[in-house]
Amino acid sequence: MAESQTAELMDKIVSLCKRKGFIFQSSEIYGGINGFWDYGPLGVELRKNIRDCWWNDMVRQRDDVVGLESSIIMHPKVWEASGHVGGFTDPMVDCKVSKQRFRADQVFFAPVVVDGQVAGYVSALESERIAGELQEKAETLKRKKAIQGKLEPVQPRDFTEAKPDEIPLVPSPATGEPGSLTPPRAFNMMFETYVGALRDESAVAYLRPETAQGMFADFKAVLDTGRVKIPFGIAQIGKSFRNEITPRNFIFRSREFEQMEMEYFISDEDDWAKWHRYWIDWCRNWLISVGVSASELSEYDHPKEKLAFYSKGTTDIMFRYPFGVQELWGIAARGDYDLSQHAKASGIPMIYFDEATKRRYTPHVIEPAVGVDRIALAVLCSAYCEDQAPDEKGNLETRVVLRLHPRIAPIKAAVFPLLKNKPALVEKAKAVRDLLRPYLTVFYDEAGAIGRRYRRQDEVGTPFCITIDFDTLGEKGPELQDTVTLRERDSMKQERVKISDLVGLLLPKIR
Ligand code: ATP
Repeated sequence: MAESQTAELMDKIVSLCKRKGFIFQSSEIYGGINGFWDYGPLGVELRKNIRDCWWNDMVRQRDDVVGLESSIIMHPKVWEASGHVGGFTDPMVDCKVSKQRFRADQVFFAPVVVDGQVAGYVSALESERIAGELQEKAETLKRKKAIQGKLEPVQPRDFTEAKPDEIPLVPSPATGEPGSLTPPRAFNMMFETYVGALRDESAVAYLRPETAQGMFADFKAVLDTGRVKIPFGIAQIGKSFRNEITPRNFIFRSREFEQMEMEYFISDEDDWAKWHRYWIDWCRNWLISVGVSASELSEYDHPKEKLAFYSKGTTDIMFRYPFGVQELWGIAARGDYDLSQHAKASGIPMIYFDEATKRRYTPHVIEPAVGVDRIALAVLCSAYCEDQAPDEKGNLETRVVLRLHPRIAPIKAAVFPLLKNKPALVEKAKAVRDLLRPYLTVFYDEAGAIGRRYRRQDEVGTPFCITIDFDTLGEKGPELQDTVTLRERDSMKQERVKISDLVGLLLPKIR
């Protein structure tokens, strides 16, 4: 897709989310707060459905995974032991003129080389076509400076790789002028707070930047419940907080977000690569099961030289968002690092005793970690579609439809009386709504022409619409009495079904 088309798609999704009540900017009445989002009436349903599907498939349907809900604020020593206090940093760079702040690894630059001579520098913020953008800027610079000769292809590097003598020469992405960027420095992304009445060093605590440490800190407690045997996992869903330098791309990178993480503990002698592959496949299949387009998914293996010393391997499941291919789900093989660190720092051994072999060891772990918000965005991008549908007069018009998987669609079925001024129709439609309500999320709508009501539901991804008409009341004879029109969102096909069959028909389709 061309860049303008993808930007347009993103704009359409953001605007639909706001208009229809999926996602709003937090505190918008005060001008908003960067990196924080609110989920509106349909957004909360979507998120809840994503969470519920994950919890059901990850915990309830398995014998080897148990759940946990640990506190958001934990003992600060947790974050010292995990390495977050010392090392949970991103490289930050400031523009002294614009006062804007960037992540240094998201600022790309290149020398403009003409006939072997450096004629200046160009820079741009990370994007899918960074090399193309820098090349165009290099050509413009050459033209502006009226330099003759052959321009060499640009070699983009990120700003963390800038040499000290290059830093003053790289233009700020904010102003386009060189000389205002500071050297990159480490910025810790944890949000600090104080616990208790004192506001001194001893009271400092952190909002968790990930849920994972809850599983490690409670490893012994879960083990002692006697419910688990290696291999087993502990799963948790909950809010995490990161003071991201540049929150951006809508809900993709925010400062408050929700994670779904699972720590899968295996024997130190087990084949970690086999389990790693197992969980990558599981995660990929799960994404597809909730409606993420398989064709937009790919895998990225972190190069060995960029892994932390304890890491055996990390693979990210990537999704092609409109703003580029980005990490959706990380699956990391972390060895015994986390448990060993907590054992060392707390003095409590994190040892598993294998009854069968009488062997004691520190388990190793595979960690699939994903953000609910990134999944929500991926399903919205996968589902957004514009097609052609006939209007009231039979003329084709553009229809916006969210082809959300019925498992996660906020509303499963909408119920309409054909006309709102016919009490018998209204009464019957409300009875159908009440019949379905205990089993699925239903929405009753009587406002406007029936075609318009269908369109409104298409736009928010409701997979089924049920219309109660005069046939339902038996006006055309007893054979159609107590039947309704069931319309399917994607095919727009309509069929006549008995009211008494509705629950049995719909339930398997939405589960
Ligand atoms: P990134 O490189 O994009 O910053 P990360 O590698 O730091 O992500 P992890 O620490 O592995 O991310 O977190 C696990 C998952 O949590 C990510 O795969 C992503 O789905 C989600 N996540 C992480 N940071 C954010 C954020 N700021 N906003 C929304 N989701 C996030």
